[in-house]
Amino acid sequence: MGSAFYVTTPIYYVNSEAHVGTAYTTIAADVLARYNRACGRRVFFLTGSDEHGMKMVRAAKDKGLTPEQLVDTLVPKYVELWKHLNISNDNFIRTTDPLHARTVQALFGKLIEKGDIYKGTYRGWYCTPCERYVPQGAATPPPCPVCNRPAEHLEEENYFFRMSKYRDRLLALFEERKDFVRPESRRNEVLNRVREGLEDVSVTRSTFEWGVRMPGDEKHVVWVWFDALINYLSGAGYPHDMAKFAERWPADVHLIAKDILWFHSVIWPSMLMAADIEPPRSIFAHGWWTMNAAKISKSAGNCIYPMDITAQFGVDALRFFLLREVPFGGDGDFTHSAFLGRFNNDLGNDLGNLVLRTITMAEKYFGGIAPAPGVSGTQDDALVNTAKNLEDSVAGHLKNLQFSHALEAIWQLVRAANRYVEECKPWVLAKNEAEKPRLATVIYNLLQSTRICAAYLSPFMPGTCEEILWQIGYEKPVSVRLPLDATWGQYQSGLRLRKGRPLFPRVEA
Ligand SMILES: [Zn+2]
Repeated sequence: MGSAFYVTTPIYYVNSEAHVGTAYTTIAADVLARYNRACGRRVFFLTGSDEHGMKMVRAAKDKGLTPEQLVDTLVPKYVELWKHLNISNDNFIRTTDPLHARTVQALFGKLIEKGDIYKGTYRGWYCTPCERYVPQGAATPPPCPVCNRPAEHLEEENYFFRMSKYRDRLLALFEERKDFVRPESRRNEVLNRVREGLEDVSVTRSTFEWGVRMPGDEKHVVWVWFDALINYLSGAGYPHDMAKFAERWPADVHLIAKDILWFHSVIWPSMLMAADIEPPRSIFAHGWWTMNAAKISKSAGNCIYPMDITAQFGVDALRFFLLREVPFGGDGDFTHSAFLGRFNNDLGNDLGNLVLRTITMAEKYFGGIAPAPGVSGTQDDALVNTAKNLEDSVAGHLKNLQFSHALEAIWQLVRAANRYVEECKPWVLAKNEAEKPRLATVIYNLLQSTRICAAYLSPFMPGTCEEILWQIGYEKPVSVRLPLDATWGQYQSGLRLRKGRPLFPRVEA
């Protein structure tokens, strides 16, 4: 079961344009998908759109549209953005897809059969912008714990899911699999809340119609979160393609932002237990991005849109910055000076410079043909060791979803190669014909270091890496196999190099 590597993003609520925080989760998932594919694993990468719920009904009404019309204008923008950001998802699931609706109804039906759905009345508070129930607090109305808006009072006949029944099994799952929820601090938060008790949850709404009809009671639609979580099954083939589904499920990792952790780590596994489906292998909750230390939100007017960045700096600079700047799991602050610093220093001075000077020297000293190595020297050891250690460190960091550490490790090789140029001084060797065999080794080693860096960077910056590999002699489209293509000594001498444009020309503040 589940031999493929299955990674998901949340399905995004499409009522507003995707900002940098949305792109963050999707890019992280894309890196995992691309890395695992490069390692030869079968991969299934799912993303999609969450389209039901009261919030969409209201947004459509404001624009004088039906909810169907509204989502049909919004969803293509997401699909386009993912294409623009070079996202390699294998499927895009929409909750308005009839196939998804049938899956929701099938799962709901299973829970009814199990006796886990009962009729009751929900009396309490609800935050429609966040589509979540809000507990009564000191203030009336209580503010939503996520967005701080005052919650609305609801009193309606609902069906409830007997989630309390699964508390002990859930606790056992958390105990048995310490990495079920990552990072650990978030795992502990959730675990403590579950220990305090688990209430049943209202899973239908009866005051509007924009949703999946509840099987057995057509007056109700399924609560938007219950509906949305099931995308991880419907998008992977459940129950319409059980052979594919068996290959994919359980998901290896659900990537999410920290504000939706409860839904994913408590409600979702309880639903699966009730339906006799194995829970996912892990859930990883990353932090939030702030802009100059303020939370990014539409109402604060400080949204950063991916296209604004990529228009000036390119797609890969954004992909790189988001994953390099902040350890995955923590919060991050997006500032223009931090972005420019990474762009000019890491990408321009370190990586761009390495590629440019290596090819320039190979052209000057060897007519643009990669030389075969000749004589080794004492300066080689440090470079060789750094390159050889990279495989284990990248694999280890990506297993733990520590993207920034993986990039840091790759940069150790980028910097070691630049240092190697300074130490070996090819321009001095070139003046002495007797040093030609040594010069050949130096240039060859620089070319193979460049190749190794590009191979490991390809999941992070696919476009740039293809360009680098093309410049050092490979044909497009380049497909990277790891760790083979990053093995020391695998670079082929005799390849014709192609000097291209500088990769990351300096941008002044
Ligand atoms: Zn809210």
